[in-house]
Amino acid sequence: MLTQNLGYPRIGNQRQLKKACEQYWAAKIDLAELKEVARKIKEENWQTQLNSGIDLIPCNDFSFYDQVLDTSLLLGVIPQRYSPVLSQIKSNNEIDLYFAMARGYQKDGLDITAMEMTKWLDTNYHYIVPEFTANQEFKIFNENIFAEYNSAKQQLGQKAKPVLLGPVSYLLLGKEKEQGFERIDLIKKLVPVYIDIINRLKQQGAEWIQLDEPCLALDLSKKEKEAFDYAYRSIANRVSGIKLLVATYFEALLDNAQLAVGLPINALHVDLVRAPEQLDEVLALIPEQLQLSLGVVDGRNVWKNDFEKSLSLINKAIEKLGADRIIIAPSCSLLHSPIDLDLETAIDPEIKNWMAFARQKLNEVSELKQIAEGNNELLLVNKKAIESRQSSQKVHKQAVKDRVAGITEADATRKSAFPVRQKLHNDRFNLPSFPTTTIGSFPQTDDIRQLRAKFKKGELTLEQYDSAIEKATVEAIRWQEEIGLDVLVHGEFERNDMVEYFGEQLDGFLFTKNGWVQSYGSRCVKPPVIYGDVSRPADMTVRWSKFAAAQTDKPMKGMLTGPVTILQWSFVRDDQPRNVTTNQIAFAIRDEVVALEKAGIGIVQIDEAAIREGLPLRKAKHPHYLDWAVTAFRITASGVEDKTQIHTHMCYSEFNNIIEHIAAMDADVITIETSRSQMELLQAFANFEYPNEIGPGVYDIHSPRVPSTEEMASLLAKAADLLPARNLWVNPDCGLKTRKWPETKAALENMVAAAKQAREQISVEGVI
Ligand code: GLN
Ligand code: ZN
Repeated sequence: MLTQNLGYPRIGNQRQLKKACEQYWAAKIDLAELKEVARKIKEENWQTQLNSGIDLIPCNDFSFYDQVLDTSLLLGVIPQRYSPVLSQIKSNNEIDLYFAMARGYQKDGLDITAMEMTKWLDTNYHYIVPEFTANQEFKIFNENIFAEYNSAKQQLGQKAKPVLLGPVSYLLLGKEKEQGFERIDLIKKLVPVYIDIINRLKQQGAEWIQLDEPCLALDLSKKEKEAFDYAYRSIANRVSGIKLLVATYFEALLDNAQLAVGLPINALHVDLVRAPEQLDEVLALIPEQLQLSLGVVDGRNVWKNDFEKSLSLINKAIEKLGADRIIIAPSCSLLHSPIDLDLETAIDPEIKNWMAFARQKLNEVSELKQIAEGNNELLLVNKKAIESRQSSQKVHKQAVKDRVAGITEADATRKSAFPVRQKLHNDRFNLPSFPTTTIGSFPQTDDIRQLRAKFKKGELTLEQYDSAIEKATVEAIRWQEEIGLDVLVHGEFERNDMVEYFGEQLDGFLFTKNGWVQSYGSRCVKPPVIYGDVSRPADMTVRWSKFAAAQTDKPMKGMLTGPVTILQWSFVRDDQPRNVTTNQIAFAIRDEVVALEKAGIGIVQIDEAAIREGLPLRKAKHPHYLDWAVTAFRITASGVEDKTQIHTHMCYSEFNNIIEHIAAMDADVITIETSRSQMELLQAFANFEYPNEIGPGVYDIHSPRVPSTEEMASLLAKAADLLPARNLWVNPDCGLKTRKWPETKAALENMVAAAKQAREQISVEGVI
């Protein structure tokens, strides 16, 4: 029996890589210094894995920015627009080209845009999307993989296992940059380069190579399936003396199982955390010789492995295949997990004993092997920790469970239907047609950020902090009144982050000091950890909303984060289904909505920025997910009276396949991002005849550019062509937190002017 790891976090346990990259970009350190930081991180990571007793240790899993971009550079997939950079860079320094592709290039009279970035499957990690052309050529362009294997081999010997994104997933995760071809057809041109790479690694002495093929666990067309077959058959024909391991993760193989086990490879890795049920099918189909890597330790979460559970899977596999054909592993690369739990000194020891980060997960992998070979003591220690979590009062709150178990249809339904509510809102708020509002946050200036930092460090008293936040809030309100916005916001100056702010006030959440996970490039996030039943011990936002409302006669929107978004951006419990946790959060937010209503707040916005990104990878699972996600939102929104207007906001608007579910959320008003698409994305709402009110963003807040009144007025006119004008709101695409005040003010003044124009020029029947 072997153990392996599929990938290790590369940011460094003090985020050294982030700091070094940012210094290099600012020309504060040179390339040699940057490379030195990278060398240290790699060597430390390898040593950690060696110390954990892992048999096959990944190399080439390091990246200065992103592993998909590394693959593009390796294969020479460099979009044409970077040729000027290519000719300017010094010999042997491809890293500037690499960073130009990742971040754009504005230097030496050049201005070249960055490549697109998108989410890595269903994670919060973002990769750089490969760009393909019809005549795409591939060649070995960059030698990093060979150099990295060499250093790994020096330190790890035969344990060093190079990792590479497999050819089919590489194509599928990319994008056609021109019409007239399908990227999957490039497989014939691509495979020979993979063969060369693998043969070179073999000559260097590699015993194994890991090819990541996450797309093998997705819905595949016939052609895509054939590409898998073709690619691996061709590779197997042309390489020998090196073992091929294909790694799948994040989903079950399902209808691709036969294809996967039939590939002429030496080992197949399957994710048994996401999909433990697939083991039976894989074992039933698996041919002689093929080794099976069992991903039993969760690479996506922070919890200690339940050894008993894992062992039952391992033993089942051993029974069928014999221990020799088994490899024990984490479910996926540990890239998605924080690095080292030992660095957390402030977590409640009882809870900490239930947790494991990357370093601890590696120990779990090798302990599982020892247990499978008969070491019972390790099993007992683990069992104690698991049992303590199962019965702890810190996790289990009967009242919370009962409330969720007792959900009724009525809990998730507003008292009256939308038309009745709309009438009440029109009478109550008496807003003009094309009412203007913003999405919630105003610029978080350095002053505001410093305020928070000082308060955290104890350099400011609560009174001092609060009065400074009050001052910022009052200023923002005065200014909104001055320019004539209709529905005001308080500005969210008191909030660090839209999830953290609520997590900190809810029971069942904890926060780490160093639990950083790479989000993209040098950006890292530190998600909250939901460890227990979620409840709301006290009001969370009432104090600030009430204060703000008291400063003005205009309606003041209350501002909350929705349950699905809180779930998506946290590490969640693995001891109950995600929808149960979401419903617990939903009730907590519902109580907050009701508290706001009681405090006199007439309009409450519940942001669900992450509903769409929670969509499962397999289409067959979409309906179930959408069903519970929409229900959770409806629970938060349905505790109030009809007269209260519920808004929701989403930072995107590609709703083509899910529009009926968006409508089912039954928010009185939805604000979405549409300005960059010139309202094209509204088409889904128009086709569906979306019944409720809607604010398609007219101001792209992702850029410092100030849109003109005419521009925004013409976007409004387009929107009014598609949807009933009386249902339209006027607002920016998203919150203004990342913007600066001058451009924000100028843009919002223009926006208000655009709304006025629309009121004069576009007729709105039915407005009271
Ligand atoms: N209310 C939040 C804000 O304005 C919404 C942010 C978001 O949608 N990401 O900042
Ligand atoms: Zn947004």
